[in-house]
Amino acid sequence: MLNIVLFGPPGAGKGTQSQNLIDKYNLIHLSTGDLLRSEIKNGTELGLKAKSLMDQGLLVPDEVVIGMIDNKLKENKTAKGFIFDGFPRTIPQAEALDELLERNNTEITCMVALEVENEELIKRLLNRGKTSGRADDQDEDLARKRIGEYNDKTLPVAQYYKKQQKFASVNGIGEIDEIFRNICDAVESNKSGVNKSN
Ligand code: AMP
Repeated sequence: MLNIVLFGPPGAGKGTQSQNLIDKYNLIHLSTGDLLRSEIKNGTELGLKAKSLMDQGLLVPDEVVIGMIDNKLKENKTAKGFIFDGFPRTIPQAEALDELLERNNTEITCMVALEVENEELIKRLLNRGKTSGRADDQDEDLARKRIGEYNDKTLPVAQYYKKQQKFASVNGIGEIDEIFRNICDAVESNKSGVNKSN
Protein backbone atom coordinates (compact mmCIF):
# COMPACT_ATOMS: atom_id res chain seq x y z
CA MET A 1 0.00 0.00 0.00
CA LEU A 2 1.07 3.56 -0.59
CA ASN A 3 0.10 5.78 2.33
CA ILE A 4 1.08 9.42 2.05
CA VAL A 5 0.64 12.16 4.64
CA LEU A 6 0.45 15.51 2.88
CA PHE A 7 1.51 18.05 5.45
CA GLY A 8 1.57 21.81 5.63
CA PRO A 9 -0.21 24.86 7.04
CA PRO A 10 -3.68 25.98 5.89
CA GLY A 11 -3.33 27.40 2.39
CA ALA A 12 -0.17 25.45 1.50
CA GLY A 13 -1.91 23.70 -1.40
CA LYS A 14 -2.63 20.31 0.19
CA GLY A 15 -6.08 20.01 -1.40
CA THR A 16 -4.84 20.78 -4.93
CA GLN A 17 -1.85 18.47 -4.68
CA SER A 18 -3.92 15.69 -3.05
CA GLN A 19 -6.08 15.61 -6.17
CA ASN A 20 -2.97 15.27 -8.36
CA LEU A 21 -1.65 12.42 -6.19
CA ILE A 22 -5.00 10.61 -6.22
CA ASP A 23 -5.10 10.77 -10.02
CA LYS A 24 -1.55 9.47 -10.37
CA TYR A 25 -1.49 6.73 -7.73
CA ASN A 26 -5.19 5.83 -7.46
CA LEU A 27 -5.38 6.56 -3.74
CA ILE A 28 -8.31 7.27 -1.46
CA HIS A 29 -8.40 10.85 -0.20
CA LEU A 30 -8.98 11.24 3.53
CA SER A 31 -9.32 14.89 4.51
CA THR A 32 -10.49 15.36 8.09
CA GLY A 33 -11.47 18.96 7.24
CA ASP A 34 -13.75 17.72 4.41
CA LEU A 35 -15.17 14.96 6.64
CA LEU A 36 -15.94 17.49 9.38
CA ARG A 37 -17.56 19.92 6.93
CA SER A 38 -19.75 17.09 5.66
CA GLU A 39 -20.82 16.28 9.26
CA ILE A 40 -21.74 19.96 9.71
CA LYS A 41 -23.69 19.99 6.44
CA ASN A 42 -25.62 16.90 7.53
CA GLY A 43 -26.41 18.51 10.88
CA THR A 44 -25.03 15.61 12.94
CA GLU A 45 -24.27 15.90 16.64
CA LEU A 46 -20.56 15.51 15.89
CA GLY A 47 -20.82 18.28 13.30
CA LEU A 48 -22.53 20.62 15.73
CA LYS A 49 -19.80 20.12 18.33
CA ALA A 50 -17.00 20.51 15.79
CA LYS A 51 -18.46 23.63 14.21
CA SER A 52 -17.99 25.92 17.19
CA LEU A 53 -14.30 24.96 17.43
CA MET A 54 -13.76 25.25 13.68
CA ASP A 55 -15.43 28.68 13.70
CA GLN A 56 -12.82 29.78 16.21
CA GLY A 57 -9.92 28.37 14.17
CA LEU A 58 -9.20 25.77 16.88
CA LEU A 59 -8.52 22.07 16.45
CA VAL A 60 -11.31 19.61 17.24
CA PRO A 61 -10.49 16.91 19.84
CA ASP A 62 -8.13 14.11 18.79
CA GLU A 63 -10.62 11.31 19.51
CA VAL A 64 -13.16 12.84 17.10
CA VAL A 65 -10.83 12.89 14.08
CA ILE A 66 -9.16 9.58 14.99
CA GLY A 67 -12.62 7.94 15.12
CA MET A 68 -13.50 9.34 11.70
CA ILE A 69 -10.24 8.04 10.17
CA ASP A 70 -10.74 4.64 11.83
CA ASN A 71 -14.17 4.36 10.19
CA LYS A 72 -12.85 5.32 6.77
CA LEU A 73 -9.98 2.80 6.95
CA LYS A 74 -12.48 0.08 7.85
CA GLU A 75 -14.73 1.08 4.94
CA ASN A 76 -11.85 0.87 2.44
CA LYS A 77 -10.05 -2.35 3.27
CA THR A 78 -9.14 -3.12 -0.35
CA ALA A 79 -7.74 0.33 -1.19
CA LYS A 80 -4.37 0.70 -2.93
CA GLY A 81 -3.47 3.29 -0.38
CA PHE A 82 -4.51 6.56 1.21
CA ILE A 83 -3.62 10.17 1.12
CA PHE A 84 -4.03 11.81 4.49
CA ASP A 85 -4.76 15.52 4.08
CA GLY A 86 -4.97 17.67 7.24
CA PHE A 87 -4.37 14.61 9.43
CA PRO A 88 -2.50 13.90 11.67
CA ARG A 89 -2.35 17.39 13.21
CA THR A 90 -1.08 16.40 16.68
CA ILE A 91 1.36 13.81 18.02
CA PRO A 92 -1.44 11.68 19.59
CA GLN A 93 -3.14 11.64 16.17
CA ALA A 94 0.13 10.50 14.53
CA GLU A 95 0.55 7.73 17.12
CA ALA A 96 -3.06 6.61 16.67
CA LEU A 97 -2.64 6.54 12.89
CA ASP A 98 0.42 4.27 13.19
CA GLU A 99 -1.60 1.90 15.37
CA LEU A 100 -4.60 1.87 13.05
CA LEU A 101 -2.42 1.15 10.01
CA GLU A 102 -0.46 -1.53 11.84
CA ARG A 103 -3.73 -3.28 12.59
CA ASN A 104 -4.20 -3.49 8.80
CA ASN A 105 -0.61 -4.69 8.31
CA THR A 106 0.45 -1.49 6.60
CA GLU A 107 2.25 1.75 7.49
CA ILE A 108 2.86 5.33 6.40
CA THR A 109 5.15 5.42 3.36
CA CYS A 110 6.12 9.06 3.79
CA MET A 111 5.11 12.51 4.92
CA VAL A 112 5.58 15.27 2.36
CA ALA A 113 5.52 18.78 3.82
CA LEU A 114 4.62 21.77 1.63
CA GLU A 115 6.58 24.80 2.80
CA VAL A 116 4.97 28.24 2.33
CA GLU A 117 5.69 31.36 4.38
CA ASN A 118 3.02 32.91 6.62
CA GLU A 119 2.19 36.10 4.67
CA GLU A 120 1.75 34.14 1.43
CA LEU A 121 -0.58 31.75 3.28
CA ILE A 122 -2.76 34.62 4.52
CA LYS A 123 -2.98 36.01 0.98
CA ARG A 124 -3.96 32.59 -0.41
CA LEU A 125 -6.54 31.88 2.33
CA LEU A 126 -8.30 35.22 1.90
CA ASN A 127 -8.28 34.72 -1.85
CA ARG A 128 -9.73 31.21 -1.49
CA GLY A 129 -12.38 32.64 0.84
CA LYS A 130 -13.80 34.68 -2.04
CA THR A 131 -14.82 31.49 -3.85
CA SER A 132 -14.79 28.60 -1.34
CA GLY A 133 -17.66 29.91 0.79
CA ARG A 134 -15.68 28.76 3.83
CA ALA A 135 -16.22 31.19 6.72
CA ASP A 136 -12.81 30.31 8.17
CA ASP A 137 -11.14 31.50 4.94
CA GLN A 138 -12.82 34.91 4.89
CA ASP A 139 -11.54 36.48 8.08
CA GLU A 140 -7.90 37.49 8.44
CA ASP A 141 -7.83 37.07 12.24
CA LEU A 142 -9.23 33.56 11.91
CA ALA A 143 -6.71 32.70 9.20
CA ARG A 144 -3.89 33.86 11.50
CA LYS A 145 -5.34 31.87 14.39
CA ARG A 146 -5.36 28.68 12.29
CA ILE A 147 -1.76 29.24 11.25
CA GLY A 148 -0.93 29.79 14.96
CA GLU A 149 -2.60 26.47 15.89
CA TYR A 150 -0.57 24.85 13.14
CA ASN A 151 2.71 26.27 14.43
CA ASP A 152 1.94 25.35 18.08
CA LYS A 153 0.31 21.94 17.79
CA THR A 154 0.93 20.57 14.33
CA LEU A 155 4.54 21.43 13.45
CA PRO A 156 5.88 18.91 16.04
CA VAL A 157 4.25 16.16 13.97
CA ALA A 158 6.97 16.71 11.31
CA GLN A 159 9.56 15.71 13.92
CA TYR A 160 7.63 12.50 14.57
CA TYR A 161 8.07 11.43 10.93
CA LYS A 162 11.66 12.75 10.76
CA LYS A 163 12.53 10.31 13.55
CA GLN A 164 11.06 7.51 11.47
CA GLN A 165 13.05 8.75 8.43
CA LYS A 166 9.85 9.23 6.50
CA PHE A 167 9.92 13.01 6.13
CA ALA A 168 10.44 15.07 2.98
CA SER A 169 10.04 18.79 2.48
CA VAL A 170 8.96 20.47 -0.77
CA ASN A 171 8.82 24.17 -1.64
CA GLY A 172 5.09 24.98 -1.93
CA ILE A 173 5.59 28.21 -3.88
CA GLY A 174 5.79 28.13 -7.68
CA GLU A 175 4.05 26.37 -10.54
CA ILE A 176 1.55 23.71 -9.43
CA ASP A 177 2.99 21.15 -11.91
CA GLU A 178 6.56 21.72 -10.75
CA ILE A 179 5.54 21.39 -7.09
CA PHE A 180 3.73 18.17 -8.00
CA ARG A 181 6.84 16.76 -9.72
CA ASN A 182 8.87 17.48 -6.58
CA ILE A 183 6.23 15.77 -4.41
CA CYS A 184 6.33 12.70 -6.68
CA ASP A 185 10.15 12.58 -6.51
CA ALA A 186 9.90 12.63 -2.70
CA VAL A 187 7.27 9.87 -2.71
CA GLU A 188 9.25 7.71 -5.14
CA SER A 189 12.47 7.94 -3.15
CA ASN A 190 10.65 7.05 0.07
CA LYS A 191 8.87 4.16 -1.65
CA SER A 192 12.20 2.69 -2.66
CA GLY A 193 13.75 3.43 0.71
CA VAL A 194 16.43 5.81 -0.64
CA ASN A 195 16.10 8.09 2.41
CA LYS A 196 16.54 5.22 4.84
CA SER A 197 19.89 3.99 3.65
CA ASN A 198 21.93 6.19 6.01
P1 AMP B 1 -8.86 22.03 7.02
O1 AMP B 1 -9.90 21.90 5.98
O2 AMP B 1 -7.88 20.89 7.03
O3 AMP B 1 -8.15 23.37 7.00
O4 AMP B 1 -9.61 21.95 8.43
C1 AMP B 1 -10.58 22.91 8.81
C2 AMP B 1 -10.77 22.85 10.32
O5 AMP B 1 -11.22 21.54 10.71
C3 AMP B 1 -9.51 23.08 11.15
O6 AMP B 1 -9.28 24.47 11.35
C4 AMP B 1 -9.86 22.36 12.44
O7 AMP B 1 -10.76 23.12 13.24
C5 AMP B 1 -10.63 21.14 11.94
N1 AMP B 1 -9.73 19.99 11.68
C6 AMP B 1 -9.48 19.41 10.47
N2 AMP B 1 -8.65 18.37 10.60
C7 AMP B 1 -8.34 18.29 11.91
C8 AMP B 1 -7.49 17.42 12.67
N3 AMP B 1 -6.78 16.44 12.09
N4 AMP B 1 -7.43 17.62 14.02
C9 AMP B 1 -8.14 18.58 14.61
N5 AMP B 1 -8.94 19.45 13.96
C10 AMP B 1 -9.05 19.31 12.60
